[in-house]
Amino acid sequence: MSGPIRAELTWVDGELLRGIEVGVDDLGKISHVHKSDDALTHPRIALLPGFVNAHSHAFQRALRGRGERFDRPDEDFWSWREAMYGLVEELDRESVKRIAIQAFREMRRCGMTTVGEFHYLHHDCTDDGGDWAFDQLMLEAASEVGIRLVLLQAYYVTGGIDQRLGAAQQRFNGQNLEAYWSNMDRLQGMVDGRMQRLGVVGHSIRAVPVEQLVLLHQESQSRDMVFHMHVEEQPAEIEACQQTYGLTPTGVLLDRLSLDSRFTAVHDTHTDSSDMARYLQTGARVCLCPLTEANLGDGLADVPGILAQGGRICLGSDSNARISMLEEMRLVEYGQRLKLQKRGACRDEDGRIDRVLLDMATRHGAESLGIKAGSVAVDHEADFVLIDLESPTLQDCRDEDLAAAMMLGASEECIAGTMVAGRA
Ligand SMILES: [Zn+2]
Repeated sequence: MSGPIRAELTWVDGELLRGIEVGVDDLGKISHVHKSDDALTHPRIALLPGFVNAHSHAFQRALRGRGERFDRPDEDFWSWREAMYGLVEELDRESVKRIAIQAFREMRRCGMTTVGEFHYLHHDCTDDGGDWAFDQLMLEAASEVGIRLVLLQAYYVTGGIDQRLGAAQQRFNGQNLEAYWSNMDRLQGMVDGRMQRLGVVGHSIRAVPVEQLVLLHQESQSRDMVFHMHVEEQPAEIEACQQTYGLTPTGVLLDRLSLDSRFTAVHDTHTDSSDMARYLQTGARVCLCPLTEANLGDGLADVPGILAQGGRICLGSDSNARISMLEEMRLVEYGQRLKLQKRGACRDEDGRIDRVLLDMATRHGAESLGIKAGSVAVDHEADFVLIDLESPTLQDCRDEDLAAAMMLGASEECIAGTMVAGRA
């Protein structure tokens, strides 16, 4: 393994500090973080924990630009979903792997060192319920790109509450819980233990009947795996759930699942505030996907309300219509400024937004995915993003303003590279 890293600035405990040395051990973990006066190995570079993309559907990268023609004035999430299903029917093994590599490469270029791939496009051939052929392609694509992967394997068995799967949805078919878990065991034998792990997904209240959701979640807990689920992205989902179950989707989760910090709800765009208060009390988490939520016209979650209750928010690139963690962070804050006509929605007790936003993009994402990454701290994965201090967009910024300048005033041109497990 290469020697210690001494960058001009290093993000440690929420500050960019000078004179810090970071050691990396043979397993690609951080062995020490301490003061050093030795010569810099990385002058004019700021070393930050690598960004953690907690929610991606890699294949949707192929929809970029394609879902952006609007024949009617009332197009929304549901008409976009039809375009997505059109793509799903076209894909084969070669194209799925190629698109995943393309998406994962783009993620690394924008500073992401881990991706949580919320994977529901399972089958190449759908005869007899499907062949799960696309699952291992995600493992292979991530290995090829050198991005850390948490493959969040989705269970998806209904086309809507009490509805059969549609034609395109056959490729998502989770079959039954027994088949799902036996495929998980097969995948467990294929993961690269240092760079990859598995997590569990109940796709949404639309796609999994509650009785099965309960069993899926219980098994994930007994295996100590993280559990992710799309929750309340659209009002129509909430209405359908209330009609069938007499509760909101979050209400169903609170009523039927024993939620804990291993659970992450993705979106929570339209979550009722009293539901959210009860949800956060369980220690469970929220993942926002600001660029995708903007692209799909979903709406804005109550970020200040979640933060005020100590809620832990992570971020995902979701549809990959645009892959940029800097822009995701920016839009979390700016969306609220536009909505509330106030500034500083993501401020902490010191009035700073940079620490809160960077925690969303790093530490909270790693925790949501069940990996020890997202901090420049001993024993954590040596995953870093390197920021070019000579980038014109960052020139003349003071050390203490640099992180906020990067989030609000820069784009990928300031990213000099990434390291995963200590390797460039
Ligand atoms: Zn999603």
